[in-house]
Amino acid sequence: MNQKIDFIDLKAQRRHLGEKLDAAIMAAVNEGNYIMGPQVKAFEQQLSAFSDVKNAISCANGTDAIGLCLMAKKVRPGDAVIVPSFTFASTAEVVAWLGATPVFVDIDQASFNMDPKGLELALAAAKKHGLRTVGVISVDLFGQPADYDPIESFCDANGLWLIADSAQGYGSIYKGRKSGAIGTMATTSFFPAKPLGCYGDGGALFTADDEVADVIRSLRVHGKGSDKYDNVRIGVNSRLDTLQAAILIEKLAIYEEEIAARQIVADRYEAALSDVTSTPQVMADCRSVWAQYTLRVDADKRQAIIDGLKAKGVPTAVYYPRPLHQQTAYSKYPAAGNGLPVSERVCNEVLSLPMHPYLEEATQDFICEAVRDTIASVG
Ligand SMILES: *Cc1c(COP(=O)(O)O)cnc(C)c1O
Repeated sequence: MNQKIDFIDLKAQRRHLGEKLDAAIMAAVNEGNYIMGPQVKAFEQQLSAFSDVKNAISCANGTDAIGLCLMAKKVRPGDAVIVPSFTFASTAEVVAWLGATPVFVDIDQASFNMDPKGLELALAAAKKHGLRTVGVISVDLFGQPADYDPIESFCDANGLWLIADSAQGYGSIYKGRKSGAIGTMATTSFFPAKPLGCYGDGGALFTADDEVADVIRSLRVHGKGSDKYDNVRIGVNSRLDTLQAAILIEKLAIYEEEIAARQIVADRYEAALSDVTSTPQVMADCRSVWAQYTLRVDADKRQAIIDGLKAKGVPTAVYYPRPLHQQTAYSKYPAAGNGLPVSERVCNEVLSLPMHPYLEEATQDFICEAVRDTIASVG
């Protein structure tokens, strides 16, 4: 390849968005409603329609989105929240923010998502530590929805709420239900590299419950009451900028198209690579938005494969090299059962390939050939 291959090509998307995006940005700049301008409300309405859920509330980032949900649920010290360990730090971080305890559960190696079979073990681990389990945060890792039927049954049976962390999976579908509409509450992130990203930080959360929605709308603006200078609860400052909302309106308009383009890229990888390596599989009746296209390779050959691909000009990434329960800040928290063997193993096997809606066929053919050659040469 003469051209540099991007892992995620946001510049190609920017070209595709064209002058409409310039106009949207300049309108927001010239109108001067920089905080909570009309674009924020318009975007929230569009998100609510897209997810088919009553309340969509924007906020400053995907981490705050989860944090606001936990604040609304009054999570406090002594509470345990069950979370996967093979995820980005935010999922557990927000639980610890509030002085509560994340309890880690293992994943299913085929989907990389929370293994519902581990939930009972997590509940027992929390109990052993004298904690009261109040909820579960599932993650739609790499764009694929978690296995919600058994997770929801477990939550119902134990009186727990469920937050679906769909930072990577916004737009995914689980058996006819769209992300945002799944869980007691759901959250997403608009960090630029996420499937639906803005040009800075941004996030949103979703709930069908009007009372919870009202509390969260207050929490995100310092706990305001109906009178702006009578704050009725301790809140935070977590708003989506008007400018980012203006950008996201343009991006949401082409998002379905982009999800379809991502699926084509995933299908081409599957056709070209499934006979030489372990390719990611989507559960039946589900749609992934392919935030990442993640292979599993032999742990002892992974570095050689990364180096070989790099030499050929193919960028790769390892999400995630270490599970949370083995990271410095999180190793003190309980894990379900006798450790989390799947999370610990896949961290050494995962390898993500370039994935974005604008990956051209010729570039992808080059990547696939490079992957096949490299895997063959490292034996
Ligand atoms: C990115 C991400 C978040 C946090 O989003 P930010 O907008 O970066 O705060 C939370 N959970 C998961 C699984 C993520 O990938």
